[in-house]
Amino acid sequence: MANRKFIVGNWKMNGLHDQLSDIGDIAAIASEHKDIDVAICPPTTLIAPAAEKVPDFMIGAQDCHSAANGAHTGCLSADMIRETGALLSILGHSERRADQHETDADVKAKAEAVHAAGLGAIICVGETEAERDDGKAVEVVCGQLEGSFPEEPSADWLTIAYEPVWAIGTGRVPETSDVEEMHAAIRNKLGKLMGDGADAVRILYGGSMNGGNAAALLAVPNVDGGLVGGASLTAEKFGPIIEAAA
Ligand code: PGA
Repeated sequence: MANRKFIVGNWKMNGLHDQLSDIGDIAAIASEHKDIDVAICPPTTLIAPAAEKVPDFMIGAQDCHSAANGAHTGCLSADMIRETGALLSILGHSERRADQHETDADVKAKAEAVHAAGLGAIICVGETEAERDDGKAVEVVCGQLEGSFPEEPSADWLTIAYEPVWAIGTGRVPETSDVEEMHAAIRNKLGKLMGDGADAVRILYGGSMNGGNAAALLAVPNVDGGLVGGASLTAEKFGPIIEAAA
């Protein structure tokens, strides 16, 4: 049975309070499509006001520290994130793996912290262009998945996002046959890592998804949704992606 589709907007470091109206508009579109799940992960500063503005809509964070508290200047724990009103966190995005040098082990620890706080996690994996050109994309992605994988996985709280690094923010999207191959490999790897529950874990595609290509990407076997950056910032751009999933 196909999994319920999940469309997540990753606002990255974009959005001031003025943009709360965009979250309101996006939530209004999502509320017309009860057969799918939709979330927005705005910058941390907008989580609480967004959760207050649209209490029935899913708001998420973009990162979380693995420790419960302590001497980690500038960081937020999973309990703090939960207190803002977020229901989930993106973890191990390639921008954080590159800019903040996050390792697979860091991402695994973060996922376990998020789960302990009662939040959902979206663990991101993806190969660079050089790794794909070397024919190593599947090996790299499955290796990241294994290294980042939490001890007590369950589809109730865990989602995987496949985001080829070279497709993020570039307007370039892999061939659907390559997306199909990778999502099948991730599904297979999930089976090895967690057994029976693997089929219910949603695997999102991310990287230059937009209103024009979403329907084709979402029709690929084992693509259970999308993690969308640039095209999630306004209802005008994100609405067609939500509608393509519904
Ligand atoms: P993009 O970003 O849709 O702007 O390519 C996706 C992501 O980084 O999650």
